[in-house]
Amino acid sequence: MNIHEYQGKAVLKKYGVAVPNGRVAFTVDEAAQIAEELGGKAVVKAQIHAGGRGKAGGVKLGKSVDEVRTYAEQILGMTLVTHQTGPEGKVVNRLLIEELSDIKKEYYIGLVVDRATQRVVMMASEEGGTEIEEVAAATPEKIFKEAIDPAVGLAPFQAQKLAYAINIPKELVKQAVKFMTGLYNAFVDNDCSIAEINPLVVTGDGRVVALDAKLNFDSNALFRHSDILDLRDFEEEDPKEIEASKFDLTYIALDGNIGCMVNGAGLAMATMDTIQHFGGTPANFLDVGGGATTEKVTAAFKIILSDENVKGILVNIFGGIMKCDTIAEGVIAAAKEIGLSHPLVVRLEGTNVELGKKILNESGLNIVAADSLADAAQKIVALVK
Ligand code: GDP
Ligand code: MN
Repeated sequence: MNIHEYQGKAVLKKYGVAVPNGRVAFTVDEAAQIAEELGGKAVVKAQIHAGGRGKAGGVKLGKSVDEVRTYAEQILGMTLVTHQTGPEGKVVNRLLIEELSDIKKEYYIGLVVDRATQRVVMMASEEGGTEIEEVAAATPEKIFKEAIDPAVGLAPFQAQKLAYAINIPKELVKQAVKFMTGLYNAFVDNDCSIAEINPLVVTGDGRVVALDAKLNFDSNALFRHSDILDLRDFEEEDPKEIEASKFDLTYIALDGNIGCMVNGAGLAMATMDTIQHFGGTPANFLDVGGGATTEKVTAAFKIILSDENVKGILVNIFGGIMKCDTIAEGVIAAAKEIGLSHPLVVRLEGTNVELGKKILNESGLNIVAADSLADAAQKIVALVK
């Protein structure tokens, strides 16, 4: 789960990470009010769940309350298109109004869970403010990394090593160490999956401050962080994905025209690959999980069909604990309930598979039972063409 920059900064502040003073604004008047409180000058920052706002015109420096007002008018309600939003962009509904920082130099600090070392890794670079992916591609030697032992936490010597490696001024190393320690503690305490401070800045008056903050949380751990869960902004999420999460379905919208309903993430990936292999394009990733019940299958059909691009559906379910005949009956009941008119190819495998296929073939509905995944993919690709 993602949160907004202003929310991320509030979380980090609790851990002793220095952030500029500022607040969220939902209206132009609120923005002007906050600018006034900050002494007139303020930066106006679009709050969307995507980076690259600066380049796209979503970050403006206001030198007076009037300028802040003008920028707030401009940015609130605008559709911001950045390299992370996709071509459709994101509508700005919130602004962060923050005191101006006198930036001397911009740096980068990030935390990720590294599968290779099975540890949280802190990455730091002197090349802040720009895309870290570009730095990684062009000058990987400018990114320094420390793998953190979970039993010890971020050791002071590791933080110092990083601070020196990225040339933080000597007199500010202590502050940088405190910053990194706070960031690491916030990451671990809240079960983050990514934390990215880009840029971390050193200011003219000798402070080490997080000018931007991106925190991403492991959804599987959110049950123990109700305070973080409260920060969820539904306006930033695909409505279909929100609906799916209510039924415990893992759904991710894609841009193809073949809706997929599969049980198990691995099988779902294989299904998408096979569709692509035979020249089709999946409209979504959808994992119905262990119990492919009629209720879940019905909800899944509805979500898939709410995508106007969908021209046909491929159901690929392995009946292990749940038998194929039960699944077939569930699919038929769901298809009847929603009055499915799109082509539907069903591939079942597992316990009672022959009975399952027989039930599908005798349903009287426009359902094509397939013999294998390859067969199913070819059939649905042909039907949507
Ligand atoms: P992003 O483009 O979405 O990553 O948004 P950032 O929060 O990183 O802001 C983009 C850039 O705006 C930063 O790299 C800074 O150069 C600039 N910026 C943001 N806030 C301030 C500020 O208070 N003062 C100055 N001078 N520049 C700022
Ligand atoms: Mn940034």
